[in-house]
Amino acid sequence: MDLSDIYPSFNIDFDGMAEAIRDNGYKKVLVQVPEGLKRGAPHMIEKLEKATGASILLDGDPCFGACDNSSTKATEMGMDALIHLGHSDIPSMERHPSMPIHFFPVGMKVDRKILNEGIRELLTSVREDRIGLATTVQHIHLLNEIKVMLKVAGKIVHIGQPGKREFFPGQVLGCSFHSPRSIASEVEAFLYIGTGRFHPMGMFFSIRKNVYCLDPMTGRISIFEAREMDRFVRVRHSQITRAQNLMDKGERVGIILCEKPGQKRSTLATSLSEELDGKGIKNEMIVMDHISPMKVKVLGFSIVVSTACPRIAIDDHRSYSGEGIVILTPVELRIALGNMDIEDYLLDEEW
Ligand code: SF4
Repeated sequence: MDLSDIYPSFNIDFDGMAEAIRDNGYKKVLVQVPEGLKRGAPHMIEKLEKATGASILLDGDPCFGACDNSSTKATEMGMDALIHLGHSDIPSMERHPSMPIHFFPVGMKVDRKILNEGIRELLTSVREDRIGLATTVQHIHLLNEIKVMLKVAGKIVHIGQPGKREFFPGQVLGCSFHSPRSIASEVEAFLYIGTGRFHPMGMFFSIRKNVYCLDPMTGRISIFEAREMDRFVRVRHSQITRAQNLMDKGERVGIILCEKPGQKRSTLATSLSEELDGKGIKNEMIVMDHISPMKVKVLGFSIVVSTACPRIAIDDHRSYSGEGIVILTPVELRIALGNMDIEDYLLDEEW
């Protein structure tokens, strides 16, 4: 069934979801949808109930990735299965042993004319001959098509293999750049297909080669430059320095341990606690599901290190600063403690 009336910009495998429910004889199913698809979800659920006869419960809590799957909630609610829409599976992730999870990634529809124009413009600026491709799951269906277009133009094109957290060749996550890294020695530059600067920055940090970016929705081409990385490191360095000053004044450090199945890093949290103990710095571990500045503020911490999604400390640091809190990644805490050098700064990824 075509869901264009509900989601005109996305390709959603409605028939696949209905088949998974019918073929497995599920009677009660929890459906999780990402934030960008929430608005149309009640209409989609109504159609799914009609198509399958199953009773479908919509998970209304925020969902930002496959790492955030509700398998425990589905078990507690007595469901037969969980359908997780929007993201691909994270193979290495812990999951509730008795709850089947069906992942249905969602692709964004792209105007082929705009894409073709973008590729044409790209070819006028890319000097390198050997190119690696990478993208997020929303555009993964474009990779082979773009590979062919570049090959026809005479480029040698490689697509890297997934690591422990990615599902598809060529896929990148905000917490893993394994796939481009796996082909780093075979290519001279990368092409990232997608929007935003976080993923190209992660690729650049990881590989230190030119990363060209093609926004497939607008056809706009850009390049991620070393000076963007330098600017980013300067901002993070100021946070690290603030944390050092607070620790020097005897402030206690909160170590956030996330409950979400694909973000839970107990071993890392314990090891950070030991490193802080080793420097005589008071610290406490805090367990949270959804992490927010207000939750941290109520506990009275002015420094926290997040072992959860690496993007929280990077993307949300201003909201934390607004509440008088410095939030660091594990790498940044190690720099603050003098256990790592700022010159060796890395994004927190691929665990
Ligand atoms: S941990 Fe963060 S970056 Fe990684 S999949 Fe989850 S939401 Fe995405």
